[in-house]
Amino acid sequence: MATSMSDVRKSRVAVVTGAAVGIGAATALRLSQAGFACVLADRVADVKRVAAQIAGSTGTATYANVVDVADEQQNIAFVRSVEEQLGRVDVLVNNAGVHPKRAGGKYPIEEIETAQWNHVLAVNLTAPFQLCRAVLPGMRYRGWGRIINVASAGGRTVSPVVSAHYAASKAGLIGFTRTLALEAAPHGITANCVSPGPVQTAMSGASSAEAIAAFTAAIPMKRYGDPSEVANAIAFLASDEASFITGAILDVTGGRFMP
Ligand code: NAD
Repeated sequence: MATSMSDVRKSRVAVVTGAAVGIGAATALRLSQAGFACVLADRVADVKRVAAQIAGSTGTATYANVVDVADEQQNIAFVRSVEEQLGRVDVLVNNAGVHPKRAGGKYPIEEIETAQWNHVLAVNLTAPFQLCRAVLPGMRYRGWGRIINVASAGGRTVSPVVSAHYAASKAGLIGFTRTLALEAAPHGITANCVSPGPVQTAMSGASSAEAIAAFTAAIPMKRYGDPSEVANAIAFLASDEASFITGAILDVTGGRFMP
């Protein structure tokens, strides 16, 4: 599991799912730069190379686990193994997400198979629930924890490029996070959502060129976000400075979504 080892017992431990690319990889790098011992989880084995790269650039203990978060047993075993090997999970970033597209566009509801619906809900909503449930006892015991769930503007408002299963999963994640925040607050644990708008990653790149152009025109800042800009918001919510913020949704959209 270890790709490098400094004195990890002195560091807070942060787990980031979906950390092989995009927002997850940028978040792991940012948290690592902030001094967290980071555990990167992803279903693709390339996550090990990314963890080694981060360890090399920051000199902070960094670990990688291949985990399919759609599998409950893997989620339970993953958290148990981190707690056994590193002693704790202080920060959990539920970032892994899927948004199936067909021929450059969204799926109309009548073309969504139940299996695909279930998979989107499993990765985007059920996995965060299972991972939160697994880390809560340890955080409660230590009286400190930070949970950041990566939602989406597609779960905040309607969008012509967002499919119904993705919108439902992200809206559900926001509702889940609010209830979690309420239950966890007395124990020194905060739970918040970061809700990105269009960000330059493989996920957003799967849209057609026309859709990307139309989207860009509708963003007040006239550009897609960089993954590091979402990572900065996540790192803030993971920090001691965010001590009185819980149940919040931090929109990172270049002004695309304003409630
Ligand atoms: P991405 O597709 O670039 O990366 C997603 C990562 O999640 C990949 O590394 C992938 O392997 C991993 N993943 C997918 N299924 C998994 C599974 N079953 N188990 C473990 N890992 C799995 O996506 P991104 O753009 O970096 O998005 C990160 C998060 O941000 C997602 O939750 C996404 O919904 C959200 N988001 C992204 C955008 C955007 O424009 N990029 C906008 C709003 C919200």
